Amino acid sequence: QRLITVPVPLGERAYDILVGRGLIGSAGARIAALGARAAAIVTDEHVGPLYASALTGALEAQGLRTTLVVLPPGEATKSYASLERVCDAVLEARIERGDLVVALGGGVIGDLAGFAAAVVRRGVRFVQVPTTLLSQVDSSVGGKTGINSRHGKNLVGAFHQPSLVLADTALLDTLPAREMRAGYAEVAKYGLIDDARFFAWCEANWQGIFAGGPERDEAVAQSCRAKAAVVVRDEHETGDRALLNLGHTFGHALEKITAYDSARLVHGEGVAIGLALAFRFSAFLGLCPPGDAERVEAHLTAAGLPTRLSQVPGGCGTVDELLAAMAQDKKVKGGALTFILARGIGRSFIAPGIEAGKVRAFLDSEI
Ligand code: NAD
Ligand code: ZN
Repeated sequence: QRLITVPVPLGERAYDILVGRGLIGSAGARIAALGARAAAIVTDEHVGPLYASALTGALEAQGLRTTLVVLPPGEATKSYASLERVCDAVLEARIERGDLVVALGGGVIGDLAGFAAAVVRRGVRFVQVPTTLLSQVDSSVGGKTGINSRHGKNLVGAFHQPSLVLADTALLDTLPAREMRAGYAEVAKYGLIDDARFFAWCEANWQGIFAGGPERDEAVAQSCRAKAAVVVRDEHETGDRALLNLGHTFGHALEKITAYDSARLVHGEGVAIGLALAFRFSAFLGLCPPGDAERVEAHLTAAGLPTRLSQVPGGCGTVDELLAAMAQDKKVKGGALTFILARGIGRSFIAPGIEAGKVRAFLDSEI
């Protein structure tokens, strides 16, 4: 069995991300090596029936006492009510400072369980077992945890680094194709940010990633390396961690306009359109060769992702609505917007002070 280790060197909170097919089989020993006596496993109703018994069995075989907390699937689970449920279940299970909360699921479960671990007893250790491509390449890395508030997404949370991340790429075999594609937008994003070689590798190998070949493990590991490198440089997002938002200013606006209705648009689809728009906008501003923007669009299209505003189911709204949605995004200061733009594939940069008029002219050309 091939195993790739991606270290996240964050001083005394350093931890490893392990990537491999079938990793969950040896998860018991790896988690037990952290020295806990008990673990509360948090999962959702889709993932639990598929994988919880394998994980519970593996931990119990190592002598850990386990408790399973199963929540409804979906973004609505990142709520105060679920947080209360998880915290109470963790306390009920007598999880102490040396013990563990284990998140078995996608980004929803990872963010929620991680936040519960951050606040229960003022912080217990936690382990991520991400089960979606998005969570394996993005949300399980970096230590951001949290829930949604009536005021917006992810507004209540904490930085809490995991003690270990186990990314078993075989778990993605049961992921719905649409979720797989959505996660892939984030994989391509890492190449577009600062690694043209990785983007070219993705163009040549994306089918292996989807089919579950060794390319999938390689893509997950490379994405984790890329994100970990940014996080180690800028753990609390005061500087260039913002590069990870490439494609997200437009993407978040589209999610808002589609009312966060996953039947219309899931996050990664918004990001795919956002990536294509970021490159076309860069070309529009004369910063990026148009051929690079075309290459981005061609690759995302090949992978089955949307790249045009006209592909938003139910419509993308008017230019005014799009601008208003972007202005609400936290990346706005005094009328001007901050975008992540690119001088080419793998050459992205933070561009503060982009005038709304320029954005309007560009969007007029897109709609
Ligand atoms: P998700 O957790 O909702 O999972 C998507 C769907 O797939 C769910 O229905 C889930 O039950 C199902 N599923 C998960 N694993 C499966 C498997 N192996 N087989 C079959 N079905 C499976 O969504 P997501 O895309 O993983 O995560 C989105 C969340 O991540 C958002 O809340 C977002 O805010 C958050 N996020 C956090 C960070 C961060 O840095 N913390 C970064 C990016 C995104
Ligand atoms: Zn994203």
